Amino acid sequence: MSNEPADILPSPEQASASPCGATSTSRPDSAPAARLEDEPAGTGGRPRLRINEVFHSIQGESTWAGRPCVFIRLAGCHLRCRYCDTEYAFKEGRFRTIDDLVEETVRHGTRLVEITGGEPLLQPRVHDLVERLCDLDRTVLIETSGACDIAPCDPRSILILDLKTPGSGECDRNLWSNLDRLRPRDEIKFVVTDRGDFEWACDRIREHRLLDRGNPVLMSPVFEQAPGLEILGCPALHPRRLAEWILESGLEIRMQTQLHKAIWDPSTRGV
Ligand code: SF4
Repeated sequence: MSNEPADILPSPEQASASPCGATSTSRPDSAPAARLEDEPAGTGGRPRLRINEVFHSIQGESTWAGRPCVFIRLAGCHLRCRYCDTEYAFKEGRFRTIDDLVEETVRHGTRLVEITGGEPLLQPRVHDLVERLCDLDRTVLIETSGACDIAPCDPRSILILDLKTPGSGECDRNLWSNLDRLRPRDEIKFVVTDRGDFEWACDRIREHRLLDRGNPVLMSPVFEQAPGLEILGCPALHPRRLAEWILESGLEIRMQTQLHKAIWDPSTRGV
């Protein structure tokens, strides 16, 4: 861990134009606009990333749910989804070298690693970290909002592309061109807040023939989220309602819940 002070967050001044592209009418003025510039190299010229936390836990989502996993959470996000459960990652973070992150990951001995955020693709050097971990034969999941270009991602990594539904408040940030860049092992996820979100997601699944591509298509019922400093908060959707809608739809959607929130208190960090 470096000795940099905490809370060094990505300010709007540190953000620049990016392939994340679209504008949003729902984004608060306080949200960084887009991509974060590369940070200057750390001590000894080693590249660094802004990291919120690193922890070893049980993977709670995706088709990899249930597996032990090391999570590397990058700081900063340019979206403000109303149900975000990691608002603390918007501003809390420290610089850490990629060498340091690789060393800690290897120390845990777990083969599965998830790179998450915040929005991990805002920091271009994340691709160096992913490449290093793939070279070490780790299975690297990248959880991304779908609002950043996935083209630079290492082909050995596995993307969990979280397409934003209208209930998130950030639906207009989806970068639809990402769908044409998905690789066979990548997964598509929708977080559903209500019936309107469900129908919108089903329309997108049909429109883009998402179930014909071979990529798993996941749907999660939103978990209750209290309003925060920068997010609006959101009431929960009962899993049974989503289950009923999926069954009625006849679509081969894979329903998921957040396993880690069933194991630990939902507000617990680092699990
Ligand atoms: S849910 Fe993800 S994309 Fe949305 S604001 Fe939170 S960290 Fe950003």
